[in-house]
Amino acid sequence: MTTFTIGDVTITKITELEATGDTELMLPDATPQAVRQVTWLHPHYATEDGLLKTSIHAFAVVTPTRRIIVDTGLGNHKMGRPVPAWNGMTGTFLQDLTDAGFPPDGIDTVLCTHLHVDHAGWDTRLVHGQWVPTFPNARHVFARTEFEHAEAAPGHGTAELFADSVTPLVQAGLVDLVPANEQVTPEIQMVPTPGHTPGHVSILIESRGERALITGDFIHHPVQLARPSWTSAGDHDPGRAATTRRVVLEELARTRTLLIGTHFPGPTAGYVIPDGDDTYRLQSLA
Ligand SMILES: [Zn+2]
Repeated sequence: MTTFTIGDVTITKITELEATGDTELMLPDATPQAVRQVTWLHPHYATEDGLLKTSIHAFAVVTPTRRIIVDTGLGNHKMGRPVPAWNGMTGTFLQDLTDAGFPPDGIDTVLCTHLHVDHAGWDTRLVHGQWVPTFPNARHVFARTEFEHAEAAPGHGTAELFADSVTPLVQAGLVDLVPANEQVTPEIQMVPTPGHTPGHVSILIESRGERALITGDFIHHPVQLARPSWTSAGDHDPGRAATTRRVVLEELARTRTLLIGTHFPGPTAGYVIPDGDDTYRLQSLA
């Protein structure tokens, strides 16, 4: 189990799915030849042959007053997803979450960086043919801009996500729509990181002088520290996404903030170290 401590807050990674290669859609510029040139990616984040390693996971965040999940992965039994392997999953995520000390009933807050199918899937689960909230005692907090955009622009499986994973929450009265810079607890704040989606947010954790940022998808892979201009084929606004990446990476390097990657495999977190002109490398904790 991978757990990070920031002052009084702990952040535990619960993995749902890991993969190697097949990242042409995620980062079209990341050819094996181009990836091999970023030598520090091996072994944690890329193979020797230049294939990127990726992960889909959730973070259980415990503060002195709250038990929070940040992003909830793909979910089981979901269909109509844009990636074949993401359909009809039957993984052990919920058991793994429980075994790690986070039974779903004990979660009081679910935060979502953005409404794509790999970030809100476990918001519901299938019980006797019905989609029911997985975290029935939790407020499900979304940036209003993100929620309204996703509801109106239902591509890439978002319509299916709303039908099976979001609408049941709305019907159960569990959804709170908030400003994109919402202060959730004294230690936890949503910060706007637009581009991948218009209302995309990252999650800033500050406690006892220490800081960490859970990325969401303003950055998909550590290779983008070395190549900040590499954009995702799934970016709503690639130019804005690249600008967000540059601004945030510069700030993380300057403030020694732990970067915790939503799709980073292996060590998953590290410090952003300047490594050339407007480029960086990740100094992993492991
Ligand atoms: Zn994602």
